[in-house]
Amino acid sequence: MTTLVASPPVIGVLALQGDVREHLAALTAAGAEARPVRRPEELAEVDGLVIPGGESTTMAKLAARFGMLEPLRAAVRGGLPAYGSCAGMIMLADAVLDAPDDQVTIGGLDVTVRRNAFGRQVDSFESAVHLAGVPGPPVHAVFIRAPWVEETGPEVEVLGRVEGGPADGKIVAVRQGRLVATSFHPELTGDIRVHTLFVELVRAARAQQFGPGDAGAGVGSEEIS
Ligand code: GLN
Repeated sequence: MTTLVASPPVIGVLALQGDVREHLAALTAAGAEARPVRRPEELAEVDGLVIPGGESTTMAKLAARFGMLEPLRAAVRGGLPAYGSCAGMIMLADAVLDAPDDQVTIGGLDVTVRRNAFGRQVDSFESAVHLAGVPGPPVHAVFIRAPWVEETGPEVEVLGRVEGGPADGKIVAVRQGRLVATSFHPELTGDIRVHTLFVELVRAARAQQFGPGDAGAGVGSEEIS
């Protein structure tokens, strides 16, 4: 008997700037085939994309300079699943506050985010956040000069908020269809539950597109007898 086993989803990490290695490791641990993405040809070969933490102004400039901005916009518009952490959240946002006038984003996520929202006193901090869709104890959220979500559109689901302290109640994790974003950096903690959530989302999106036994991204299913 021959059984078709779907190969792992191929998930890229936008590798222009930021903590790419940590995301590659977390995605691999969560069962994906993870690879860096720098060029449009590489983008065309993935089933999903992570946009890492880093510096969104620099990342956006590099994306434009390397001819990646339009391909990224087209891919997200076309339904490519994407997960952005911190600067990656800013890159996915449709609107950004406290950004340089010329800051561009990929967009797609109907939210307004505020850059460096937590202010100087709490530039970086760590806190426990309960996340919808993530089973078990709250996630240990690491915030580093992080944005928060100031406004959400009607299609956006709030997954998590700051619990306690001066920023109590601020939205720090959202999902809209195939797009997920967190203000914090799960890739720095060794807890792969957020990446697992994204890998499962990518698997589901791929199954929707190609049928459960088929692989996307030009990677064949493994056949086992
Ligand atoms: N403050 C950074 C920005 O605006 C984000 C910081 C981060 O990704 N840790 O892009």
